[in-house]
Amino acid sequence: MDTTKLNNTDIEAIVKQVLMNMTGQSAAPAASASKSGSIPKTAHVAMLTEKGKFEIQEYPMPEVGDDDILVKVEGCGICGTDAHEFKNDPFGLIPVVLGHEGTGEIVKMGKNVKKDSAGKDLKLGDKVVTCMIFKDNPDITMYDLNKQNVGGADVYGLLPDDDIHLNGWYGDYILIRGGSTVFNVSDLDLTSRILIEPCAVLIHAVERAKTTGILRFNSRVVVQGCGPIGLICIAVLRTMGIENIVAVDGNQKRLDMAKKMGACASVNFMEHKGIEALAEAVKNAFGGYYADFGFQCTGVPAGHSNIYKFIRNGGGLCELGFFINGGDATINPHFDICSKELTMVGSWVYTLRDYATTFDFLKRAKGIGLPIDELVTHRFPLEKINEAMAVNLKQEGYKVAIVNE
Ligand SMILES: [Zn+2]
Repeated sequence: MDTTKLNNTDIEAIVKQVLMNMTGQSAAPAASASKSGSIPKTAHVAMLTEKGKFEIQEYPMPEVGDDDILVKVEGCGICGTDAHEFKNDPFGLIPVVLGHEGTGEIVKMGKNVKKDSAGKDLKLGDKVVTCMIFKDNPDITMYDLNKQNVGGADVYGLLPDDDIHLNGWYGDYILIRGGSTVFNVSDLDLTSRILIEPCAVLIHAVERAKTTGILRFNSRVVVQGCGPIGLICIAVLRTMGIENIVAVDGNQKRLDMAKKMGACASVNFMEHKGIEALAEAVKNAFGGYYADFGFQCTGVPAGHSNIYKFIRNGGGLCELGFFINGGDATINPHFDICSKELTMVGSWVYTLRDYATTFDFLKRAKGIGLPIDELVTHRFPLEKINEAMAVNLKQEGYKVAIVNE
């Protein structure tokens, strides 16, 4: 090629270069350049400005400090917690940018950012999720095995608004500040990444269940409640090698999905009148035996009262349905706990370690052919977040997600 000749494209490039130098803009891509284009001057968030209403707001793109990471949001699931906050503001956070089940691509990072919380390298273009922000207790690391769950730590998507505003995943950008936990999950697809947070809840619950010493490979396990949490519970149990799982719910569509997720039988409580008949149906589903272990995944007090009746003497129970206060439940301490010698654990949220375990769970679940992707039933762009929340409140699908194209 004759380099002395300039073609039109070259001339255009030179003119651009000259113009950029004149206007003080750098022609060379900045160190902060994204793999998927340049960073705009403003970002958008869905601000919950009052109960029942998100407003799309625009803010200047914030400065990225030496320890910070700017992430272009790709997607974020809508959680039951978001629905509670949307309807009633129980945490008193309004105005707030919600969204804690989010994931996206690193488009800019401070010079001190080198590795994620598990020690994996971080670079521009990597896909990440966040877990918690430890302000008061920096000693907690992912190597404190199940020592402490997320309670007491801050989480993006449940932070008060400040002058940066990009504090939740319901936006097109989020600023991850130094001191946060962040994981490089570039080896997971978008749907899997959106499901990490709810799946971590179940990894934690099963870890809690294992501490009873009752849950074994050949255990008969009853899972009550087949919303996203119950369905993921079945998938986690199935993926770890437990095959004898009976699902209980009142919705046939959900029970069919439970079977696809790995349950070997299902019981529709609408078809059985009274707890004795229901307990008998569960027993029949196990071939004439009560369950060795139960997972209670509904947020309904009657669900808690009922599950004891499905479990054998000397069996175990993990209660994880009451993420928020759902009211009091009636039990009979003699029949349900003492004479049965039942071992019970409660489970709430997850630990950092559970997060890392979840990444592998998602790969293994897909590996054995579980239709994990089908859990995300609805996808909406950020502008349609009010519509997305309405669909979520109707509980028509499983997981509703905001997905930015
Ligand atoms: Zn959540």
